[in-house]
Amino acid sequence: MTSLAPELHPPVRVLMGPGPSDTHPRVLEALAKGTVGHLDPYYLEVMNGLQEMLRGLYRTANPMTMAISGTGSAGMETVVVNLIEPCDSMVVCVNGVFGARMADVAERAGANVIKVERPWGEVFTPDDLKQALASHPKVLGIVMAETSTGAWQPIEEISKSVHDAGALLLVDAVTALGGVPVEVDAWQIDAIYSGTQKCLSCPPGLSPVSLSPRAMDVIMGRKRKVQSWYLDVSMLANYWGQNRVYHHTGPINMTYALYEALRLVHAEGLENCWARHLLNHRALRAGLAAIGIRYSTQDGCILPQLNAVFVPEGVDDEAVRSALLNRFGIEIGAGLGAYKGKVWRIGLMGYGSRPANVLLFLSALEQLLGEQAFRFARGASVAAANEVYSAVPASA
Ligand SMILES: *Cc1c(COP(=O)(O)O)cnc(C)c1O
Repeated sequence: MTSLAPELHPPVRVLMGPGPSDTHPRVLEALAKGTVGHLDPYYLEVMNGLQEMLRGLYRTANPMTMAISGTGSAGMETVVVNLIEPCDSMVVCVNGVFGARMADVAERAGANVIKVERPWGEVFTPDDLKQALASHPKVLGIVMAETSTGAWQPIEEISKSVHDAGALLLVDAVTALGGVPVEVDAWQIDAIYSGTQKCLSCPPGLSPVSLSPRAMDVIMGRKRKVQSWYLDVSMLANYWGQNRVYHHTGPINMTYALYEALRLVHAEGLENCWARHLLNHRALRAGLAAIGIRYSTQDGCILPQLNAVFVPEGVDDEAVRSALLNRFGIEIGAGLGAYKGKVWRIGLMGYGSRPANVLLFLSALEQLLGEQAFRFARGASVAAANEVYSAVPASA
């Protein structure tokens, strides 16, 4: 007989890495509500509400706005495999791990991939894309918030050159959505995807996707069927569109979770939500600066929700991260690729972006740095962060 594995007792964590981030308690409650059928009239109402709130968050009127069953990578795969047919050409901007992943997905879909590269921690200007766009690709893909480096890619300024070249603009907004403004219609984004576990205060499991009418025309006019049955938008459109025809069983309780998370974002107000992410970032940044910790991301394009900083000279990366987890319950992210062992990634995403997390992290970090060969003014980081908070009127 199979012996029972132990009961679940997950440790209480403060998730301040590159995602997943802290789940809001109201989202956890939503997950525990009773499961209904995926064609139950109640569930169809939930889908409608979710789509309307998601359009509001993406700032779009796109009818084809939905939540793909799967994590952010499933959203990436959805937009790429539906827009690309074998031998189509696609420009992919690579300045970190997720741009590289998009290029891999596009290659697997049979695209002729043209990679444009920038150093890690930097972003692309319209000039950087000129040469690649001169070949008139079908699609240009770019990551708005590169979670491996903390770089914040401006989208509006590249959109015109992409469309002038006759290409569709595809944007990865996995870490961007909810943390910084994302304007799908105003910036004329044709295909966009995100994830629930970064700035939306949800567990991982769904990928919010939106496709412009232009992108839908391309998809509906394909010469051959999408290779992936599960992610075929022409069939998903029958479930998420007017017809509500069964395609696959929707992840009902995760849909409740995203629904509640979107209610939270809209109740707070998008502008207030972005301002909160910015304020907590400014407090963290002031605190880190006060003890001599520098950002690895190029100045001027630092994401509020993902703070990538150099591990100070003489400090043991692994020892600090594991002590943060084991002694304080705080998870932060390690550096990836070229940044392995050199960079910490501190997330302030969604529900995790709050003063309590900033102050807890800074005081725990000071305690651990004090035990290492690193000299700094004790107490300076917490004081500097509090100074930032003191300069704004306290909210309830
Ligand atoms: C996290 C992330 C992804 C992948 O999402 P998963 O949910 O891990 O599949 C893609 N792009 C970016 C920018 C991300 O931060």
